[in-house]
Amino acid sequence: MDNQKMLQAMFAEATIGIIVVNSQGKIVQANPFSEKLFGYEKGELILQPVEVLLPNSFRTRHVEHRKKYHQKPIPRTMGANLELQGQRKDGSRFSIEISLSHMDIDGERFAIAYASDDTLQQETFKSLKEAKKISDDISNIVEDSLSEIFIFDGETMKFIQVNKGARQNMGYSLEEMEMMTPVDIKPNFEEEEFLGLIEPLKEGKVNELLFETIHIRKNGTTYPVEVHLQYSRLGMQPVFVAFISDVSQRKEYEHKILMHSEELEKKVIERTEELRASESKLRESFEKEKQLGELKSRFVSMASHEFRTPLSSILSSANLIGRYEKEEQNDKRMKHVNRIESSVRNLTTILNDFLSLEKLESGKVRYHPVEIEIEEYIEQVIDEMSLISKSDQKIIHFHEGEKQIVADEHLLKNIMLNLLSNGIKYSPEGKDVELHTQYTEEKISIQVKDYGIGIPEADQELMFTRFFRANNVINIQGTGLGLTIVKRYLDLMGGKIWFESEEGKGTTFFVEIPNVIE
Ligand code: ADP
Repeated sequence: MDNQKMLQAMFAEATIGIIVVNSQGKIVQANPFSEKLFGYEKGELILQPVEVLLPNSFRTRHVEHRKKYHQKPIPRTMGANLELQGQRKDGSRFSIEISLSHMDIDGERFAIAYASDDTLQQETFKSLKEAKKISDDISNIVEDSLSEIFIFDGETMKFIQVNKGARQNMGYSLEEMEMMTPVDIKPNFEEEEFLGLIEPLKEGKVNELLFETIHIRKNGTTYPVEVHLQYSRLGMQPVFVAFISDVSQRKEYEHKILMHSEELEKKVIERTEELRASESKLRESFEKEKQLGELKSRFVSMASHEFRTPLSSILSSANLIGRYEKEEQNDKRMKHVNRIESSVRNLTTILNDFLSLEKLESGKVRYHPVEIEIEEYIEQVIDEMSLISKSDQKIIHFHEGEKQIVADEHLLKNIMLNLLSNGIKYSPEGKDVELHTQYTEEKISIQVKDYGIGIPEADQELMFTRFFRANNVINIQGTGLGLTIVKRYLDLMGGKIWFESEEGKGTTFFVEIPNVIE
């Protein structure tokens, strides 16, 4: 092949700019690549001073360099370690890399410059430098960050990097920490538990883990922390990066707020309860007032009716006594004196009933158990009853169990007097009334049994209603309050009352009072 042609082709096709400069600094050859590189038309660079390819500020200095090179040419790269600039025809500049060599032809020396566009390389270099700076800056930011940052190996779990804030707070040096894993500073975690916790992060199931726990310092003190954990890479090494915030203060606030709100809540509950209590007390006393008012007006209407018979009987007996002046009329006088006495007793009973009920309604009756000798006690009760019993009518007492009992003397007596007086009142002459008492460890039982008029079935349901009286007692004195009083006494003692009755045959009342002895 023709060597000449080959050289020409190499010159024309080279992917590097080749510029030949003569001893006067004029360009004598410029290959197409160099023309393109500097933005000139074909042949346009020929005989131009080589300095046209340089920025103005370099041109003068370059003439000197060029002359020196001509005298003593050594092949070299130009401007080593310097960022060289070329200037295009349109005045724009670019980074350029130039190597120099020379040749002597026919006694004349030519310099050859090989020029390539260095922009890309320069830019890469620049961005690498920038990247390094950024990474240094990031390292500094991490190191100086006020929050604690821990980086630990994704496999061995050993700490790799622990920033200053963390080291200072924990009280360990980096060397010490490099021997430790996160479990060593988390007293609430066992290793397996911790590995289980971070597993989803490692497997990529979650991007970040956020949890609260406690860290323990070298000196043994602890503090609450919030942990943000991420899985990442340091180069090729898989690592976990933990950002830790000390949440002591927040916890303290939370605690304070909690305490405060608990206190508030407690106060609100207390106040509400107080309000409710006073409201129900008000309502209760209002109800009581209402009931007492009703009771009083019912009593007045009942009394005006019930008082009429004994009062007129007293009046007529007193009238008659006045007329029986003679000695032999003594019997008649006595009969009327007795009638007066009985009428007064009737009036007293009515008044007593009312007073007892008022006392009960206004909450003045108290339950006060004492030891009682049952036989003596019942004897007194029977004595009192004999005053109102009819002729040939006895009260017969049967007792079972211990003779010494514990009960409220007053209330028990009132219960028995009420039931016995009804037994007497609602039975004809000659019919005895039975009183059965039984005392066991659990209870006191009382039965009052009579063989009198009984209670009509239709009226039985309402027997314990205030002022209620059965329709077969219209001609017998009474207030309809006695059973109500007995029932209220029993309520006070936790006891109960019921009865069995058949009209015309008789009635039995049953009472049970739970024993108060422990
Ligand atoms: P009072 O006897 O003053 O009318 P109570 O409250 O003691 O009032 O009794 C209410 C009513 O119960 C009586 O009016 C009467 O109808 C009925 N009753 C109570 N005990 C007996 C009894 N032993 N036999 C028949 N009826 C009775």
